[in-house]
This record gives sequence, structure tokens and C-alpha cells, in this order.
Amino acid sequence: MPTETTCPVTSDSPNGPAVNALAAVEREIARACRDARRDRAAVTLIAVSKTFAAEDIAPVIAAGQRVFGENRVQEAKAKWPPLMQAHPGLALHLIGPLQSNKAKEAVALFDAIHSVDRPSICEALAKEIDRQGRSPQLFVQLNTGEEPQKAGVAPADADAFLKSCRDVYGLTIAGLMCIPPADEAPAPHFALTAKIAARNGLKLLSMGMSADFAVAIQFGATHVRVGSAIFGTR
Ligand SMILES: *Cc1c(COP(=O)(O)O)cnc(C)c1O
Repeated sequence: MPTETTCPVTSDSPNGPAVNALAAVEREIARACRDARRDRAAVTLIAVSKTFAAEDIAPVIAAGQRVFGENRVQEAKAKWPPLMQAHPGLALHLIGPLQSNKAKEAVALFDAIHSVDRPSICEALAKEIDRQGRSPQLFVQLNTGEEPQKAGVAPADADAFLKSCRDVYGLTIAGLMCIPPADEAPAPHFALTAKIAARNGLKLLSMGMSADFAVAIQFGATHVRVGSAIFGTR
């Protein structure tokens, strides 16, 4: 008669693996800040919870994480209002593409929008910010790799686009966001993003994901967007 195999005892905390993973990411951020001689408080960890359910997110909130990222307006709208009601003080960042017809919902729900990249979005955001009296922090997304399938402003067009955000649409842009090409070393893309931000007087840099957030911190990231390293593979 076959004997039953027993489950191995894991070292996961009772709150689940995401809480341990969050602590590991936090240690890595602290180390990267020390190496770069930067203040830990100058880097915001955005825990990217896209595709994960409220019950997966709740332990991470309980562990003290306060800033979260989602890439779809509809998904965020379905998932976050109850969590935000239960936990005052959470901040929600939209890190994925925005359609003009979702600008109203995006301005109502998010504390920051990282994907400003074309005039129609600027126009829709300006209208909703004015109408709702809410001002999410805005990042212009750069397509530093000039990948045709990817959203974002080409580096050569960045200065003019930033000027039009301000002068044509009256928007205050806080920083730049980039997603380096998956098959390239990220460092040159982070450096280029930092350079364009500096010459335009922008203080915030949203760059670095699970695979490269330590490198991004070296290049001045103020916001790192970390998903799978906290929540696991999607
Ligand atoms: C999903 C996503 C992330 C997080 O990616 P991970 O590799 O899982 O850390 C960061 N930024 C954007 C724009 C994303 O869509």
C-alpha cells in the first residue's frame, strides 16, 4: 500500500509568501540606496498588484505597504475602492496605458498617472482635473527604446511634448517614466530618462521593475514599480 507523502514545512510567514517577498524587496531597496548614497525615503516602492485579487493584496497592506500600482483602469475600479475604504492612507498609481475615454475614472481613482504620452490624453486629463478638482501626480512616459509596439514619447520629442503639457494644456508634470526594452541592458535607458528629466527641471523618475529596480535606484529612480518580485509570477 503506497504511503502518503507529507507536505514539506515551508518557512513562509503565516501571512503568505508575498509578505516575505515584500520584506526581501525592501531590504534590496535599502541596500541599493546605501550603495548609491541616497536616502531610503527618496525612493517610493509601488507594489504592482495587477492581476492579483484583493485577498492576495490584503496581507501586503497589513504588512505596511501603502503604495500600489495597477495597469488597467477597469480592474483597479473593481478591486480597490473597498480596500481603500478599509485602509485610509493608501495611494494608487496607474502605471499602464490610459485611453481618453477613461480619463474621468482615472482622475477620480488614482493618486498618480505614469502614462501621459499624447495630446489627446493631456486634453482629457486637463478637463477632468479642472472638473473634479483632483490633481493626480502626472508622469510623462518615454519610449526610450523607440519600440514601435510600445507607448510613450520618443526621446527626441520629449522636450517639446513637456512644453506643450505645460503651455497648451496647463498640466503640471512631476516626472518621467520609462520601461526599457526587455532584451537590453536597462542602465542606458535609465540614464537617458534621468538626463531628459534634469534638463526639463523634473524631480521624479518612475523607473525600475522586479528585474532591475536596484539599477534604477543607482540612476536616480524616485519610484520603482515592483510586481512579480512581491506577488509572484502572473
Ligand atoms: C507590470 C508592470 C510592472 C511590474 O513588473 P514586474 O516585472 O512584475 O515587477 C512595472 N511597470 C509597468 C508599467 C508594468 O506594466
